[in-house]
Amino acid sequence: MGLVLTSIAILEEQLKQERAARISAEGALTRFRDVVKTEAEQKKHLSERILAAMMSAPDAMALFDENDLLVAANKAYLSANGDGENRIEIGMSRLDILKKAALTGLIDFNGKTAQDWFDETAPNWRSEDFGESTLQTTDGKWFRITTRKTKFGDSVTYRVDITAEKMRALELEQARKRADIASSAKSAFLANMSHEIRTPMNGVIGMAELLAETDLDEEQSLFANTIRNSGEALLTIINDILDYSKIEAGQMELFPEPFNLEEMVLDCVRLLQSKANDKHLDLLLDYDMFLPTGFVGDVGRIRQVLLNLISNAIKFTQTGFVLIRVVGVTANDTDYKIHIAVEDTGIGIPSAKQAQVFSEFKQVDHSENRKLEGTGLGLAISKKLVEKMGGVMWLDSEQDKGSVFGFKIGLKSQTDEYYRQPTAPKEIYNIMIVDDLEQNRTILKKQLGALNLHAYEYSNVDDAVAAFKNGTPCDMVITDHQMPEQTGEQLAIQIRELGFKGPIFMLSSDLRNLKMSSANAGCFTAILQRPSLRDELYKSLNCVFDASELGGQPMLVESSALCNLENLPVLLAEDNKTNQLVFRQMTKGLNLNLTVCGDGPDTVAQYQKIMPKIVFMDISMPGFDGDEATRQIRDIEKMNNMPPTPIIALTAHAMAGDRDRFISAGMDDYLAKPLKKKLVYEMLERFSPTLAPEQQL
Ligand code: ADP
Repeated sequence: MGLVLTSIAILEEQLKQERAARISAEGALTRFRDVVKTEAEQKKHLSERILAAMMSAPDAMALFDENDLLVAANKAYLSANGDGENRIEIGMSRLDILKKAALTGLIDFNGKTAQDWFDETAPNWRSEDFGESTLQTTDGKWFRITTRKTKFGDSVTYRVDITAEKMRALELEQARKRADIASSAKSAFLANMSHEIRTPMNGVIGMAELLAETDLDEEQSLFANTIRNSGEALLTIINDILDYSKIEAGQMELFPEPFNLEEMVLDCVRLLQSKANDKHLDLLLDYDMFLPTGFVGDVGRIRQVLLNLISNAIKFTQTGFVLIRVVGVTANDTDYKIHIAVEDTGIGIPSAKQAQVFSEFKQVDHSENRKLEGTGLGLAISKKLVEKMGGVMWLDSEQDKGSVFGFKIGLKSQTDEYYRQPTAPKEIYNIMIVDDLEQNRTILKKQLGALNLHAYEYSNVDDAVAAFKNGTPCDMVITDHQMPEQTGEQLAIQIRELGFKGPIFMLSSDLRNLKMSSANAGCFTAILQRPSLRDELYKSLNCVFDASELGGQPMLVESSALCNLENLPVLLAEDNKTNQLVFRQMTKGLNLNLTVCGDGPDTVAQYQKIMPKIVFMDISMPGFDGDEATRQIRDIEKMNNMPPTPIIALTAHAMAGDRDRFISAGMDDYLAKPLKKKLVYEMLERFSPTLAPEQQL
């Protein structure tokens, strides 16, 4: 009995457990059904919400299937073409919709016919070419149409009204155009103003210069010189103001191009050499021995900055020297940081005033400055130019001791123009350097050191002669010309008398005033302009031992100042009668064979007739201008296999950077009007054909 009871209890327990399990499974099923139902409802609800949002969106939206048939679209899309025949309906193809849009007359076809517009536009609307396009309607509205593909192969198109955005862009564009017109008008005004002022100034300064050279009493000569000096001062002011306003107007552009840095620095030195000579100042150049010469940069602007610094240094120095140092450091093979410093032994600038010299119209108030003309704009312009080139400018000065103005700019070097390692002739090793100025001796020693030559330095002729007598080894002598006690000429005479047969070079910064008897000149092997390119000195050294014998006339004379220009055929192309007269008068003493013509065609005709050795070419001339005349002359030369004739542009439009423009137009250099006698002479001397050695000195 007991066993039966136990079995029933077990059975009941099993039944209980099975019931509980069934109830729990039914509960799970119901819950599952509930979840599925809610999710389906939620999905439906969500799609309805999305559809409602799409319908009420202000921008047009449409959904196309993979066959490009319209599946859904909102009100903004459907109503775009209006009712009636052109109505858009679900199920239409994208191209049909486009065709209908074309026929409504709502779209601005930009002068095209509806058919042409459709043919042009249709390919862009194919569903595989998705992207963005803009559309203008005849009521002046603009729309951006964007189409994107969905992951189901459908494509959705949005059309957004961008009229306000377009209008703003249009206004901005118009404002930019107006600003461009105003700024080019300003540039043209500046250039014209420069031209208009320079032309009459040419008459004033040129004539005053000529007048000052005639027989005048003291008072008259004072008046004539005052007119000339004031005219020149006025021109400097005009140039500075023009440059400054260009920088301020943001119109200063840089034109980087390959150039030779050493030649450019030397050009600046030579240009200002006569000013330094007038004040008996030594103008020295120390170009880093290991720095290449070929770089890429805006040579016109770098020259402008350097000229400003050197002319300031000369202006504010009464005795001593002005030394230009060019050094460079390189981070890799092509990127150089070039440091150019101009050091003088002048009046200096008190430390409290140093910051202000770079500001506009700021001059240090000292007696020197009151005597000297200037605008106080030069350094402000230079600093801005250097900064525009990505560089910095600096100043180090001590009152009454001197100043160093310098700037640092980054320039890329040109590998093909790398400075080649020079060599010295094997016959020389020991060189005697005689110069009263320590800086000059140091520079020369460095230059000779690069050739592995050994230099003995002497600061005066007596010491050099004594050393020579004492048997100091000497294969060659390089001497300065003007020294306090005895000159280089006297040194040469003495050591030749002592039987020295080797080469003697003289370096002079004032070849123009070098007067020497031919007997004394015969003591020298070469007379060179100082400073000169490192290469020129090395070339001259190497030439010496090519000469069959020493003595007689110096074989190298680095100055055409000593040339005779008599009867040199020169062509002047200049339409302005006053300027013609100024040029004639200026060159009267040289007895040139001068032909003058007043327009472009006549210039070319005269060129062919007289075959001049030098042409001075005005730029603005009737017929055709100087650029065209130069082009024609260069063509004639090429056709006839003739060497190019030096052509010097004459221009009243002298903006900085012009020299490079003229050179690229086929000319050799340029002179800014008003013409200056000294500069005209320098050009004639520089470009006149080299004469045979016996005609020199
Ligand atoms: P400007 O030379 O036309 O007066 P700058 O801007 O070139 O104008 O120079 C501003 C001032 O800086 C000069 O007037 C002068 O007082 C001072 N200055 C410039 N360079 C030197 C220098 N090398 N030595 C002494 N003072 C100088």
